[in-house]
Amino acid sequence: MKKEIGLYVHIPFCARKCAYCDFASFAGREGDMAPYVERLIREAKQKSSPDLLISTAYIGGGTPSLLPPGLMDALLCALESCFCFKENAEFTCECNPGTVTAAFLEALCRHRVNRLSFGAQAFEDRLLSLLGRVHRWPEVEKSVALARAFGIRNVSLDLMLGLPTQTLPDVHETLHAALALAPYHLSCYGLIVEEGTEMKRRVDSGAWALPDEDTEREMYECCRETLSQHGFEQYEISNFALPGFACRHNVDCWERKEYVGLGSAACGFLEGVRYQNPPGLDDYLAGKPASQTVLTPEDARFESVMLGLRMMKGVSDAAFRQMHGLSIEDAFGEKLKKPLRQGLVEWRDGSLRLTRRGMDVQNAVLVELL
Ligand code: SF4
Repeated sequence: MKKEIGLYVHIPFCARKCAYCDFASFAGREGDMAPYVERLIREAKQKSSPDLLISTAYIGGGTPSLLPPGLMDALLCALESCFCFKENAEFTCECNPGTVTAAFLEALCRHRVNRLSFGAQAFEDRLLSLLGRVHRWPEVEKSVALARAFGIRNVSLDLMLGLPTQTLPDVHETLHAALALAPYHLSCYGLIVEEGTEMKRRVDSGAWALPDEDTEREMYECCRETLSQHGFEQYEISNFALPGFACRHNVDCWERKEYVGLGSAACGFLEGVRYQNPPGLDDYLAGKPASQTVLTPEDARFESVMLGLRMMKGVSDAAFRQMHGLSIEDAFGEKLKKPLRQGLVEWRDGSLRLTRRGMDVQNAVLVELL
């Protein structure tokens, strides 16, 4: 029987670098797109196996929608000939508004892509400009309309919270503009100010002020309440979906299912080994090998809890036992007692999950369990 796994493909090219971004993505490297896709196809051939069945696939970046349609078509043809896909496989492609063309979507639709995730981020021009995004909201509207015209209903939008100068009314406005586009899924991420970014320099210099913690919490609560009123279920700390439309690819990652990763900086998880391809574009193109981490049983158990607690349903004790051969209580023993006593985690329906209060201090809970 074939083994069901996920597939992740990284496209590291961007039109320009956003002010907050520390992802492995590069602007001004369009000349490397064709050799990059060739290298990806070679890697797909190396990693393909008749024993694998792809149940979810995700093309992320970077900005996959920046690839010329012909290259995307060649990549998708190669993936489909190297790997066997499950009949109803979820297949997502990330797109950035302002870079999506009809020809690009046509290329996706010739293949198995059935879900699009757009980096919309915020409604206000002021915020999009501060983030260094290449688009404005009307381009989000156009991109989503184009996706629908090509028959792709399953659309997700990424939104950001906690931005410099962002207010609660801004968040309301963004949510309502997003909901007007009838997405099936929304990701609402709090800004993380990463070292080495333009955002970090501006915040440190005092040029940009971040909202205080209480305001940021109110923004998050506003997302939870508004989206719940519109029929969305929160299934992960930052992710909300209409019933039946949670991102299966991400849920599988949080449940520690195996996946193949292709491309620069891409991670993969196979046979208990986590690997990461070289993050640098030149190193990847030169064929430098991936780094590998063999997990100890203890690391693997911690990973299950660390990833599983992100989800509202938590970590199923039965699934944990099946994966690790012992119960969560046996694995964490005394370490579990304190967060349980403090009301930060709880048992419900045979799963360990964060309480509402625990979600605010998730890292502290994990430190207790380390
Ligand atoms: S589009 Fe995404 S990956 Fe590219 S620079 Fe902006 S945040 Fe980074």
